[in-house]
Amino acid sequence: MYYGAIEAGGTKFVCAVGLENGEILEKIRIETTMPEETLGAVIDFFRKYSLKAIGIGSFGPIDINRNSKTYGFITSTPKKGWTNYPIVKTIQEAFSVPIFFNTDVNVAALGELEKGAAKGLDSCLYITVGTGIGAGAVVQGQLLEGFSHPEMGHILVRRHADDTYEGKCPFHKDCLEGLASGPAVEERWGKKAVDLADRMQVWEMEAYYIAQALMQYMLILAPKKIILGGGIMKQRQLFPLVRQKVKDLLNGYLAFPEILDNLEAYIVPPALGDDAGIIGALYGAIRVAEK
Ligand code: ADP
Ligand code: ZN
Repeated sequence: MYYGAIEAGGTKFVCAVGLENGEILEKIRIETTMPEETLGAVIDFFRKYSLKAIGIGSFGPIDINRNSKTYGFITSTPKKGWTNYPIVKTIQEAFSVPIFFNTDVNVAALGELEKGAAKGLDSCLYITVGTGIGAGAVVQGQLLEGFSHPEMGHILVRRHADDTYEGKCPFHKDCLEGLASGPAVEERWGKKAVDLADRMQVWEMEAYYIAQALMQYMLILAPKKIILGGGIMKQRQLFPLVRQKVKDLLNGYLAFPEILDNLEAYIVPPALGDDAGIIGALYGAIRVAEK
């Protein structure tokens, strides 16, 4: 039985076909241009397979409320051509199979839970620190959803004493994304993030913001594992800094030995690397087919 998976991003779409055990058989990358062109290529790729279901993890914001008139739409993105675009409908018209639709970060959390760093657990949180900041979570085996998907990148954080940068979020200026996304780091320090690797002050400040976010996610959701992905987290020196600051901020609160005494195993990079999203989308397809 074959399942289709789509990781829909603002720069590229990754499409894959895989099996029930999460194994990927074929995978391609398609540039994100205009919807008709990009999705035309996506549909061509899947045509040669007989699929049981398709899972989509998408950039957002998206409408995942099945009772909504705009269910399956990419909604208020500034990305040209994609504002209010009915991505699920386009795929559904080409393939009459069940379709799973959720955010890129929620499916990445699902991928890490099923086959990655959180394997065997029933909860985890996945956060990406890249062009934007977003987080998804699985709680008691289910993807976290309420009136919509969570928007955990836009939480408020306490400002670092040495930080005079105004913040980059178009809505809130100095929310977490506004202060700690890749573009915010680059504008504050005037250089590409990758070229700031040896500037300790940069990563100390970055870790200060990320650690505050993790503390809040821990206090609110109590996830059994936290996975940090995205371009900025390729700076691996961030991991020990973030763990130390989480520990300092919690200050002995949440006195669970499996957490506080073992943060190396609790706050981790994605075990699936850059494949967390596409493998999660595959598991989304598997889940929706079982329903
Ligand atoms: P996106 O969020 O667009 O899917 P990424 O997760 O790769 O893509 O995030 C892109 C951001 O991460 C950019 O701001 C980029 O400068 C930064 N970035 C990418 N690779 C690295 C790296 N190796 N070290 C530090 N920053 C990086
Ligand atoms: Zn914001």
